[in-house]
Amino acid sequence: MIILQSLQGAGKRREEKTMVQSGNLQVGLVAIATTVRSAYRLFPLTESLGAKLLVSPSCAQALSGDNSLVYEVYPDSLSETLPTLWSNHQGFIFGLALGAVVRLIAPLLNHKSTDPAVVVVDENGNHAISVCGGHQGGADRLTRLVATQLGAVPIVTGACDSLNLPAIDTLGLPFGWKRGSGNWTGVSAAIAQQHSVQVIQDAGSTLWQQHLPPDHPFEFELDSSTAQARVWISATQRQFTAKGTFPKVQWHPRVLWVGMGCERGTDEQVISQALEQVLAAAHLAEGAIAGIATLDRKADEPGLLALCQAKGWPLIPFPSQALKGVSVPNPSVVVAETVGTPSVAEAAALTAAGVLELLVTKQIYRSPDLAGAVTVAIAQSPQEYTARTGQLSLVGMGPGELQQMTPAAQTAVTQADAVLGYGLYLDLIAPLRRPGQIIESFPITQERQRAERAIELAQWGLTVAMVSSGDCGIYGMAGLVLEELQNQGWDGQIPGVQVFPGITALQAAAARVGAPLMHDFCAISLSDLLTPWPVIEKRLVAAAQGDFVTAIYNPKSQKRTEGIRRSQEIFLQYRHPQTPVALVRCAYRQNEEITLTTLEDFAQLEIDMLTTVLIGNPTTRTQGQWMITPRGYFP
Ligand code: SAH
Repeated sequence: MIILQSLQGAGKRREEKTMVQSGNLQVGLVAIATTVRSAYRLFPLTESLGAKLLVSPSCAQALSGDNSLVYEVYPDSLSETLPTLWSNHQGFIFGLALGAVVRLIAPLLNHKSTDPAVVVVDENGNHAISVCGGHQGGADRLTRLVATQLGAVPIVTGACDSLNLPAIDTLGLPFGWKRGSGNWTGVSAAIAQQHSVQVIQDAGSTLWQQHLPPDHPFEFELDSSTAQARVWISATQRQFTAKGTFPKVQWHPRVLWVGMGCERGTDEQVISQALEQVLAAAHLAEGAIAGIATLDRKADEPGLLALCQAKGWPLIPFPSQALKGVSVPNPSVVVAETVGTPSVAEAAALTAAGVLELLVTKQIYRSPDLAGAVTVAIAQSPQEYTARTGQLSLVGMGPGELQQMTPAAQTAVTQADAVLGYGLYLDLIAPLRRPGQIIESFPITQERQRAERAIELAQWGLTVAMVSSGDCGIYGMAGLVLEELQNQGWDGQIPGVQVFPGITALQAAAARVGAPLMHDFCAISLSDLLTPWPVIEKRLVAAAQGDFVTAIYNPKSQKRTEGIRRSQEIFLQYRHPQTPVALVRCAYRQNEEITLTTLEDFAQLEIDMLTTVLIGNPTTRTQGQWMITPRGYFP
C-alpha cells in the first residue's frame, strides 16, 4: 500500500513537472533525432520537458545496444511521417540541420495562429533556434526552455524579442484574455518598426504595462496624434473596417459575468440567441465573458450546461439565500414567491462580479418558435477571470552565480508569468528573464508581503516563481509561502506548488574550502528575530557538545553583534582553540571572500550578514587553503 502510494505520487509529480515547465506547450512535445549524437543531445528533454524522443530507423539500429535511452522509432522517412505528427503535436524540437528542417516543414506551414512551435538544436547542443510559431505557437518560449535545459544559447529572431517587448499577439495570455479581431500582423509590424502604438485599455490587468523597457513604443494617452497603430483592451466589441492603413487590434479581458435565469427546459438555442442579442445591443464582446451565474436549482439546466460547455465558460450557481439580499434595479415579487429570491439574473451577475452596479439590466427573451424563456443581465468585474489554475514555483537560486542554479530552477523562472523576490537576487538572475514577464522586487524585510503577493497572483491564475537565495526551504521563502497557504485554508492542490531545491550557503561555503562537512553537521541561524536567543544558545551548546561540524547562518548584523562572540565562547568550552573555522563571504558572487582561521580567532575578524561561518569538529584539519573533516577511512 505504501509503495503504491509513493509510486502514484512520483507519477503525479512528473506530470506536474511537465505542466509547469512547458507552460502552454503542456502536451504533445516531440524531439526528433536522425543521428546518434542528436539522440543523446535531445534525450534529457524527455525527462525535463516531457518530450517524446523519436528517432530514425537507422539511428535506432545504431542505438540498439544502449538501454539507457528511451525512444520511439518512426517508420520510413521523416518527410512521410511528419505530416501525421504535425497535426497532433504542439511543439517540435529537431536535432537536424536548419535547412533540412525548413524543407521538411515548408509544405506543412499554414498560419502563425495555428502552426506548432518549431525549434532546431544543432548536434553539439550549442544553439537552440526558434524557427516558427514563435509567439502564438510558443516556439520562442520553448527555445528558451530547451536552451536552459541543454546549456545552449537561445536564438530568437522575432523583433519583439530583440526589443525586449512582449509580443502583442500573446500579451493577454497570462491573464486569460481572448484575442479579438484586428490586423495583428499590421500592429506587430508597427511595433517592430518602433512606430508609436496607442493602447487604450479600460479593462483587465495593467501589470503588463509596469515592466516595459524605457524605450517601448506604447502610448497610453487617449488623444494621440503620433500613433500609427492602436491596441484596444476592453470588453467592448469594436468593428474594424478592412479599409485604411491604420492597423488596430482588440484584446478582451474576461470581465463580464452574465447572470441568467430561465424557465425549466429552455432550449439551448434560445439561451444563446438571447445572449447574442444582449451582447450586440450593448456592443459587448463575447470574448469578454468570464462565465454564467445563476440560481443553484438551475445548475443542472441542460440548455445552460450545453452553452457553457460549448463556449468553455464556468457555470456558477448561487443559492437563493445568497441572492435574495442583493439590491437590484428590477426585483420581481412573482420570482421571489417561486424561487425564494426576487432576482436571479441581476443578483447573480452582481454577486459573481463582486460589484454593486450592472452594465446591462435584466432583459427578457423568448423565442417565437422554441421552448422556454430567458432573463439576462451583465455585470463587469474589476478583475478578469483567468480560467487558469495558478502555480507557485518556490525556487532556490543557489548562492548567486547562475551556473550554480539547477536547470530545473532556471526553467521555472523563465517559464513564470511573474517572478518575485528580494531585489538583489532578482538582479543576479536577470539573464533568465523573458520579455513581458512581471517582475516584483521587495526589500529584504518584507518576507510576509512577498509571500502574500505570490499567493494572491497564483490564486488569480498566474504561474509565479518565488525566488530565494540558496535553497528556498532553508531559511528561505518556501516555508513562509506554505505556512501562509495553510493559514488561508489551502486544499493542497490549488494553487499548485512545486519546490525547486538550490545549493544552500553551507554547501557553497563548504565547496569553496574543500570538504569540511564530511561528517555529521548542523546549521544554526543566529538571527533572533523569529527565534528567542535562549533557544539559539541551547542549540549552539548541543551542537558543540555533540561534535557536529556547525554552519552558522545570519552570523552578525549591524545591530546584532553579540551572538557570534557568544557562539565562540560556547564552542571554546567543548573544542580546542585551534579548531579550524572558515568564514565564507558572498560565495560564488563577484565579491567572494574566504578566510581560514581558528576557533580562538574567528569572532574578532570581519563577519557580516553575507557570511557563512563553518566551525570544524574535533577531527577537522586544514591543508594549505583547504579544510578537511575526515570521514574515517584512514585511521
Ligand atoms: N536560503 C538561504 C539562506 C538564507 S539566510 C540558503 O539556503 O543559503 C541568509 C544567510 O545565508 C546569510 O546571512 C549568510 O549567512 C548565508 N548566505 C547566503 N548566501 C550566501 C553566500 N553566497 N555566501 C555566504 N553565505 C551566504
